Amino acid sequence: MKPVAFDYERPRDLAGAVKLLAGSSGAAKVMAGGQSLGPMLNLRLAQPQLVIDVRGIGELHAVSDANGSIVLGSCITHAAIEDGVIQDVTRGLMREVAANIAYRAVRNRGTIGGSMCHADPAADWVSVLPLLSAAALIEGPRGRREVDVEHFVTGAFSTVLEENEILVGVRIPKLSAAARWGHYKFCRKPGEFAEAIAAVLVDPDRNVCRAVIGATHSAPHVIEDAHFIAEGFDSERVLATVMAAGVGDDPYERQIHHTALKRAALRLNA
Ligand SMILES: Cc1cc2nc3c(=O)[nH]c(=O)nc-3n(C[C@H](O)[C@H](O)[C@H](O)COP(=O)(O)OP(=O)(O)OC[C@H]3O[C@@H](n4cnc5c(N)ncnc54)[C@H](O)[C@@H]3O)c2cc1C
Repeated sequence: MKPVAFDYERPRDLAGAVKLLAGSSGAAKVMAGGQSLGPMLNLRLAQPQLVIDVRGIGELHAVSDANGSIVLGSCITHAAIEDGVIQDVTRGLMREVAANIAYRAVRNRGTIGGSMCHADPAADWVSVLPLLSAAALIEGPRGRREVDVEHFVTGAFSTVLEENEILVGVRIPKLSAAARWGHYKFCRKPGEFAEAIAAVLVDPDRNVCRAVIGATHSAPHVIEDAHFIAEGFDSERVLATVMAAGVGDDPYERQIHHTALKRAALRLNA
């Protein structure tokens, strides 16, 4: 199948992109890397009248460092993070996550912002950024707002973005020198979407001991106090948490999410 006919615009700045989007009355789609939008267009799951290609907007590729955090522009690719072109303030976690997304051709074009906006529950950034207490920077006709990434994805393929808003970047707090993490992605072969994702973060200097269950059927499940995972691994409590995350009804799913958490905890403490 081929896409429906659509107009194509490539604005030079953010204001131009927001104006185009606001003027389209919901008939436009933003395009970043095109790695998810392309297939959706070809399958006619998306039938926009206008595609707004935002890759030429400098601000969406920028990196800025302020107040103990770093802001990554939404059009930064998975490959740039994997390669360390972008400073990694997460002691290697973001590089590991990026390197395990799909395969290199997809990572060369796919972006951190596109992945968040597409909001596939099995996606890697969708699952891991809430662990880092990241925030989404959003621009629309009424100006800029900031939303905790934990609340950005509201369900499968759905976010808090309004149809006239653009994700500008992601603010990521810097981990302290004492921070440790463990991350495990469960997939049948490299480059596939995950069947389960688990990550645990301990940052004593910032009083953080969090974990996340990702690749659920909806938004990821954040565990604010994860001492029962990070220290001693309380299997019974982990199973109850997997059930609470909505991935425990099926015995196979329950097992892989439980195992992913266990392996993430082992890596944390290795
Ligand atoms: C074969 C294959 C395997 C893959 N495997 C994985 C995997 O293992 N793990 C994983 O996490 N991902 C995987 N992906 C998805 C990949 O990471 C994509 O890069 C990502 O989902 C979308 O990013 P993109 O930049 O290509 O966005 P696009 O495809 O351009 O856009 C995706 C959606 O987000 C919207 N959008 C994009 N940018 C913005 C913005 N700045 N503001 C507002 N809306 C925006 C678009 O309108 C569209 O609805 C895979 C993709 C393919 C093709």
